[in-house]
Order: sequence, then structure tokens, then C-alpha cells
Amino acid sequence: MITDNKNVNRYFPSNFIKHSLGELDMIVISDGEVQYENSCFAPGIPKTILEEILRNYGPITPHFKLPHNILVIRFKEHVIMIDTGNGYKESPHAGRLLDNLALAGIAPKDITNIILTHAHPDHINGLIDDKNSLIFPKAKIHISKKEFEFWQGEADFSKSKNTTESLLSLQKEIQFFFSIVQDQLQFFTGKDLLFECLQPILMPGHTPGHCIFTITSGNEKFTHLADIFHDEIMLFTQPEWGTIFDIDFELAGFSRRKVLEDFARSGQQVFGYHLPWPGFGYICQEKGSFKWDSKI
Ligand SMILES: [Zn+2]
Repeated sequence: MITDNKNVNRYFPSNFIKHSLGELDMIVISDGEVQYENSCFAPGIPKTILEEILRNYGPITPHFKLPHNILVIRFKEHVIMIDTGNGYKESPHAGRLLDNLALAGIAPKDITNIILTHAHPDHINGLIDDKNSLIFPKAKIHISKKEFEFWQGEADFSKSKNTTESLLSLQKEIQFFFSIVQDQLQFFTGKDLLFECLQPILMPGHTPGHCIFTITSGNEKFTHLADIFHDEIMLFTQPEWGTIFDIDFELAGFSRRKVLEDFARSGQQVFGYHLPWPGFGYICQEKGSFKWDSKI
């Protein structure tokens, strides 16, 4: 592993980290951090019970701080980026993708392909600037067909714990972003191997077309878990407690537990978009409880 620490900020040990897997050169780019109120997590669970769990891991704060780890993979002639961060809308500690790509020596025009794990704003807002222009003009944008069709159609929000008003406004925002990038969009299904090294696996619940990706080079592999986890404490201890961002709340809990069990059993390395910087680690099981082991 090579790390570059030129511009250290106070939120992350570095703005990008280089890493490799077999023939693949990878860079994790930080888009920064966004704070979400504790009420976004474990909806329906009394605050005191949630705090009892969190207290075991440090002082209680009113917010969950979510990192945003963006993986860039160089493979043959491709420069593939997975998700695009918060864009210009979130401040003051997020939307750092472009600055940090520049520090890593990558220009927007160098990106040939963008893979979207799902269509939530903290993953797609980095596609366009504040004048609604394309930031990555040469990139094809890949998203699961199921995800695209859900947001474009008469979306069923009946299984979410969020308000219908928030969800309808979210859908409008997503449709607007899709309309700007429509000429760049390409769709995949759960069966298509992408760029000979990325296997999408449909893992629905958080959103209907939410995908995780197994990334392979030779005998080595790891899995990008996208938004299965938004933290490494509450959702590892109580995977069914979920978040208000889960479109199908129960199914998201089911998918989360399945991922915990499968990867604790296999011992395979994983990567999380919202797990502690730089996102790499292992899921372990001790005395029936799951734990996150951050390790690159
Ligand atoms: Zn997210």
C-alpha cells in the first residue's frame, strides 16, 4: 500500500490512498464527511435504547458522521469510478471529490466510466456542477436497470420509514439528475460482468436496484458493499434497526444481515462507501455479535 498525505485535513488522515489488487491499481478518494441527525437511524427504536448501544463505543453525539469513500480503479484503458459523492450541494465538509481527484493526479476528463451503486444524492450529485453541466463529459455512467426504472416510474414508497413528502422530493431530484446525464447512461443487470473485473450483485432494500460489486484480479478479490452499512457500530450490532433512507426497510435489514453472515463466514475483504476511512476491512463475528475490523 502507498499512501499520499500531502494535504491532510482534520477529518481524514488523507484525501486519497493508493492501493492495488493483483493487476488493478486503485485509489480511494475521500469526498469528505456529512453529519446526519441521530433520528435518521434506528427509526422506531427509543432514543435511550439506541444510546445504550452507542455509549459502549464512546461519548454520545447528536449526529452520525458519515464518511464518503469513492473507489477509482485503473484497468487496461479504463479509469472506473464507483459513485460520485455529494457534489456542490453539501457543505462544509463534503463535496471534496474534484479537489481530491486533482491531488491524486486525475482530471475529470480522465474518468472513462462511472458505476453508480444506487441513485441516492450522496452517490450521484457529484455528476454535475452548480450550472447543471456534466463534470465527467467523457464517462459512460452505468447503473442497474432496476434502480433506474424504480426512480423513473411510479415508485412504491410504502415500505419506507421516511415521510412520503421527503421521498417524493427525493425522487424529483433524482429524475432531474438522470435527465441531465441521460445520454451517458448505460444499464446493467445483476448478471453482467463489467470490465472483466466487476461483478454486480443485486442487494435490494436500501433501494430496489442497490448493488454491491465483487472486484477480482487473478486469485484476489474483495467486495464493494456500497450502502449496506452507514456505520460500523449500530448497524453491525442491530442490522435490522436500519435507517430512514432504506426504501424497503425490512428487506434492507434482511440484506444487511445476509452480508454480515456471508462475509464473516468467508473472511473475504470488503469495502464500504460509508465505513471508516479508507473503507477497507473485514467483518468478524465474536460471541454471536458482528464487528468491523478496519484493515487495508
Ligand atoms: Zn450513501
